Amino acid sequence: MEAKKRLETQKKVREEMEAKKKLERQDAEEKARKAEMITDADDFKLWMLKTELAMCQRDHIRTIPQPKAIACNDPVCKDTMGALRVSFCRHGMQKLLNAYVKIHKSEDWKERFLCEQKRVWHPDRFTRCPEDVRSHIQQVAEELMKVMAELK
Ligand SMILES: [Zn+2]
Repeated sequence: MEAKKRLETQKKVREEMEAKKKLERQDAEEKARKAEMITDADDFKLWMLKTELAMCQRDHIRTIPQPKAIACNDPVCKDTMGALRVSFCRHGMQKLLNAYVKIHKSEDWKERFLCEQKRVWHPDRFTRCPEDVRSHIQQVAEELMKVMAELK
């Protein structure tokens, strides 16, 4: 009788521990998901701030700010990203933008923002950049203009 009781207690303890571990795992997963979202959203915000600053002094910039690189397996993206040494493609940008909008902004804001981007990145706006980096800057700007135009 004693032995049976002890076994039952042990079983109960084990079940409780397993349930607790499962909860802890779910909690950790939830936190990881949130952390990833914050990272993407923050990265997009940082890129926007850097862009704003670069635009204020765009006759003197030597590079165009780029968001963090997100690996993409699309063959077309790989070609573009490799050829121009840009860190972005529409898939990565879309991911960052979505994360940012989800936390900080509305769909209306997103629509206005994307509309504005066509003007922001027009290569004609970068004709007075330092001559030695001008063509590269204009290429990156054009690439950004194309990528932003495809986002939704
Ligand atoms: Zn891509």
